[in-house]
Amino acid sequence: MIIPNLLNISLFNFIVAPIAIICCALVLLASIIIFIVIIKEVRSTSKKCPYCTSKIPKDAVWCKHCKRDLSEFR
Ligand SMILES: [Zn+2]
Repeated sequence: MIIPNLLNISLFNFIVAPIAIICCALVLLASIIIFIVIIKEVRSTSKKCPYCTSKIPKDAVWCKHCKRDLSEFR
């Protein structure tokens, strides 16, 4: 009865362990991507106009595209 036990251990090592490693790698990759997106969002110098969705400077008080007042969104 030694052979079935060895077979079980081999199956675990060669099937479950790589799947676990791939899952860990995917979670790590997703975390890195989310982190980069958040950093980009925080450090960006522009924002989207809530009316016309054009890209405008972060500190803008009015939109140069649709000319609407943005002071209430600051
Ligand atoms: Zn606008």
